[in-house]
Amino acid sequence: MNDDTSRTSLPLVLEAPRGRRKPPRHLADLTPAERKEQLSGMGLPGFRARQVAAHYFARLVDDPAEMTDLPAAQRDDLVAALLPPLMTPVRTLEADRGTTRKTLWRLFDGSLVESVLMRYPGRTTMCVSSQAGCGMACPFCATGQGGLQRNMSTAEIVEQVIAGARSLARGEVPGGEGRVNNIVFMGMGEPLANYGAVVGAVRRLTDPAPDGYGMSARGITVSTVGLVPRMRQLADEGIPVTLALSLHAPDDELRNTLVPINTRFSVAETVDAAHHYFERTGRRVSIEYAMMRDVNDHAWRADLLADVLNEHGRGWVHVNLIPLNEVPGSQFTRSRDADMDEFVRRLEAKGVPTTVRDTRGNEIDAACGQLAALED
Ligand code: SAH
Repeated sequence: MNDDTSRTSLPLVLEAPRGRRKPPRHLADLTPAERKEQLSGMGLPGFRARQVAAHYFARLVDDPAEMTDLPAAQRDDLVAALLPPLMTPVRTLEADRGTTRKTLWRLFDGSLVESVLMRYPGRTTMCVSSQAGCGMACPFCATGQGGLQRNMSTAEIVEQVIAGARSLARGEVPGGEGRVNNIVFMGMGEPLANYGAVVGAVRRLTDPAPDGYGMSARGITVSTVGLVPRMRQLADEGIPVTLALSLHAPDDELRNTLVPINTRFSVAETVDAAHHYFERTGRRVSIEYAMMRDVNDHAWRADLLADVLNEHGRGWVHVNLIPLNEVPGSQFTRSRDADMDEFVRRLEAKGVPTTVRDTRGNEIDAACGQLAALED
């Protein structure tokens, strides 16, 4: 310790907390080899990294006191090196008798993101965020109104899932113990605009335990506005995740207004990249279409949508209609049931398999960033 305060005061002022720029580095940011290096660099035994990973990914333990296979003298250092705190829950809202839980998280720099856990009989899906805010500015989406704050780190993305997995393992969600089976990147943010961190998170979640969470890539859906070069890159990544494309309109004129990135990548280019994804991976692509009253729900648009998709043949795609989750103050409202039924009928008549998304969690605004928006 330096007791010469007159000499240290200047550097202390310069080093005063100005906010850390990057999220803390966590084992979920690192490959198994990098975790070992990190420990060795700190004078700690590298082989302990795997034990710490087992606590994180397999045993779902976060209290160092329970990590009894780590020597007591090293435990705090190992945990500080590999498991720094990443986020704290601000609040959790529940619906469907506790089987739908939305959590608002505060990240190290005060950014707010949210995740949603949805438990169904026999499986649990988590909807996670990939960015704090979003830069895509889709006018019907609550998150799109606030702009982008920053990209999330790989570990911040993974931690949302592990937090859900912990609450399932601890029996906090009605239905007994369970695991996370499905992940959808449909929370806040545009996942393909944070490509490296999202692919890193997919790898951590699919790496076999204890190095990762050990889930199937087939259970993971990455949803995008249609960043065409990144869709093509993802097709070459060799991880068979499901791709969801947020189309919302079959014609450029309307899509330019609903999904502004369409002015860079047209409907034709975007659908072409989605079809390429199917060809490379064999994974059927999901087309997201939020049904907005008198905006995009006309019968002729259903016909046009089917034609645009069928141009690439049959069997490669299905359409998921999302009844619009109405955002307070927004001009967009949900389609009438009769218009939705007709839309489905027209698509199916042209051979396009179509489902209407279950609106679970609607009453807790679990689809569109409203909770975080209210907190600001
Ligand atoms: N940026 C990604 C993930 C966004 S959220 C993407 O755009 O695909 C996942 C889905 O929810 C997207 O299809 C998005 O367009 C849709 N969505 C956004 N706001 C909505 C709302 N108010 N009602 C219904 N769906 C909405």
